[in-house]
Amino acid sequence: MSECIIDVDYGDEEFDLKTSMVVSEKDKWCCECERIIRAGEEHERAVFLNYGDEEEPYTAYEYATCVQCVEIRDVFFDGFIFTELWSDLDNSDCLARGEFTIAQLDRLSPEAVALLMEFIPAMFEE
Ligand SMILES: [Zn+2]
Repeated sequence: MSECIIDVDYGDEEFDLKTSMVVSEKDKWCCECERIIRAGEEHERAVFLNYGDEEEPYTAYEYATCVQCVEIRDVFFDGFIFTELWSDLDNSDCLARGEFTIAQLDRLSPEAVALLMEFIPAMFEE
């Protein structure tokens, strides 16, 4: 069985991405699973700069991603688009068809596996 690696093609868009793990000072929504990241919880803060033209040199976006979604993204994605993690996982079908390796699941925390079970239950059906 081969690994399930999703590589989203975003064309020749020019962008800059800075990510860091931070502790939230107030409640936030995870941009992927939409669960609440509580104040005091660690999560990823990403600042995404999308380069445009002279009139509008860039657009900046900020995303908060919970630790579990970051883990899942790291294991299953090569290229990704913020906020589309779960729909891309769903649409890729490789997870639902069982086309992933146990080694991939082994790299996830029990909490991240629980999230996969919740969002893509077909992965765990016999
Ligand atoms: Zn999340």
